[in-house]
Amino acid sequence: MKEQLSFFNFSLKKILDLEPDSFKRAKYQIVFTIIVFSITKALIVLPFVIKYHQHLQLVRIVIIVVVLLAFAKIILYRPASLLVISHIMIMMSLVTIWSNLFAYVQAINVFTIQLIFLATLVSYYLIGGIQAACYSALAILPAIYYLLARHTVFAHINMASQEVNSTASDAVVVLNFVSFLFIHYLYYRAFHKNLREKEALNLQLQSNVIALNALAESRSLFLSTMSHELRTPLNGVIGMAYLLKDTALEEQKDKLNILEFSANNLLSVINDVLDYNKSELGKIELEAVPVSLPELLKKIHSGLELRAAEKHLDLVLEIDASLENIWVITDPTRLTQIIFNLAGNAIKFTDEGMVKIKITLHELLGDKAIFHFCISDTGIGIAEDRQQAIFDPFTQASSDTTRKYGGTGLGLAIVKRLLSLFDSTIELESHSGKGSVFKFPLTLPLCQTQLKVVAEQKADASYLKGLKLLIVEDNRINVLLLEKLLSKWEVETVIAWNGQEAIDQLQLQYFDCILMDIHMPVMDGYTATTSIRALADQIKANVPIIAITASVSDQLYAKIRWLVCKIMCTSHFSPNNCLIS
Ligand code: ADP
Repeated sequence: MKEQLSFFNFSLKKILDLEPDSFKRAKYQIVFTIIVFSITKALIVLPFVIKYHQHLQLVRIVIIVVVLLAFAKIILYRPASLLVISHIMIMMSLVTIWSNLFAYVQAINVFTIQLIFLATLVSYYLIGGIQAACYSALAILPAIYYLLARHTVFAHINMASQEVNSTASDAVVVLNFVSFLFIHYLYYRAFHKNLREKEALNLQLQSNVIALNALAESRSLFLSTMSHELRTPLNGVIGMAYLLKDTALEEQKDKLNILEFSANNLLSVINDVLDYNKSELGKIELEAVPVSLPELLKKIHSGLELRAAEKHLDLVLEIDASLENIWVITDPTRLTQIIFNLAGNAIKFTDEGMVKIKITLHELLGDKAIFHFCISDTGIGIAEDRQQAIFDPFTQASSDTTRKYGGTGLGLAIVKRLLSLFDSTIELESHSGKGSVFKFPLTLPLCQTQLKVVAEQKADASYLKGLKLLIVEDNRINVLLLEKLLSKWEVETVIAWNGQEAIDQLQLQYFDCILMDIHMPVMDGYTATTSIRALADQIKANVPIIAITASVSDQLYAKIRWLVCKIMCTSHFSPNNCLIS
């Protein structure tokens, strides 16, 4: 609403058109109703006052009419003055009630009762709250006092007004009642309008929520499709670089290393963006499996050793001795992701000195325990005023970080979100140029059964030699890559370009395993797998099938799981024979 209209504005409609709030519109209408009714009443009474030479009444009426006209003009000029004028009008009615009772009429006549009623009504409708309660009390109080004291102090006071019998007085009483009805009606109408507006808003909100959900779904689908479309060629690049290194000349190897490094970097950026998107949509669910924390940390440590060695850094792993025989129930993949991110950063932002990964058992609480994780480094450190911001997505400590070290600024945002799933928060202590310490506690349930650490088997491709594999894939680059990789391990391969060709091939010969793409023309991976599992030849029907896909969609994983369950229910097929790669 505008603060000020033209001084020559005489239209209430203009104010009402500008005011969007139905309750405020009703307030303007109520004030103008009171003004119009009061002036009408004054004009009705005026001839009688003049006729009977009631000079005091005459002065009173003239003053009231002038003041009310002035109020009307002020509101039409400055609509924002409505509240102040409402207060003044209520105070004026209080003065009239008090002066009527104790000075002028010295009686509770029907006008006074009507005035008390009007003051109370208008206080709540125009002002409301504690102020309205005070005004109402001030309006009622003199009447109560008068009724209590009339037998003593006011014994002589006349209960009836002399004016009540006159025709003018009757007209005023009727007008007062009509004004009450009208004020009630205005407020009721505003109330109803407001209710309808709220209902319309609710409907709008509901449809917005539906639209937003659809948008989030389509965004998730878009990212999943993009991930598929980006990862497939990228895997081709990484795979080919890997294969080329075997036959490349010495001077070409460096270039291939750079190619492989850049493609891997791009892949990790894509993975970060997808992970962040997934966590934003609340689609990450933690697994709960028995984990030996020392073993998990040792694996992370060996995974990072090469990176640290390349920068001549000491990568120290410090594990509390009391942890050796303790197993906990947690999500190893997500915990690894957190520590890998923090320790990876520590290596990235440290040029000399050391990076330390430390875990201590802080407290045993019956069937749970609190562990403290700490990743520290002697690197570049983080300025104090950036220590909060770096946990925000796409934010780095300084503007030259990307130029010097690369990165997207998503790693710590993912860490923070993942830790919130573990009901934990991360703490940072750091000084520019003196290194950083990232710490977080985890309360994890203890695994009651004692488990043994299975010795890690070194990846050995020799046992693949002589196997016969069916590759079901429509992407030529993937086929080429798989063929080259598998031929390196002396695995015999047969290609099927879609699900139907896979079934045809299986009719002709036996395979040790099938690598099955999901989305293919003619027949997709789901239908082909279902048909294979239904084959009469039990050896062919139970051939292990590994699904290969670059998609990260949850729906896809759910569909594969559903397919596995469905096939298990209708055959003797073992779930171990179906994997997702
Ligand atoms: P990215 O490493 O991809 O830039 P992160 O979210 O992992 O994104 O980190 C955000 C920023 O926090 C980094 O860009 C860097 O400026 C700062 N940072 C994180 N870890 C460290 C560390 N150990 N030492 C110094 N700065 C760090």
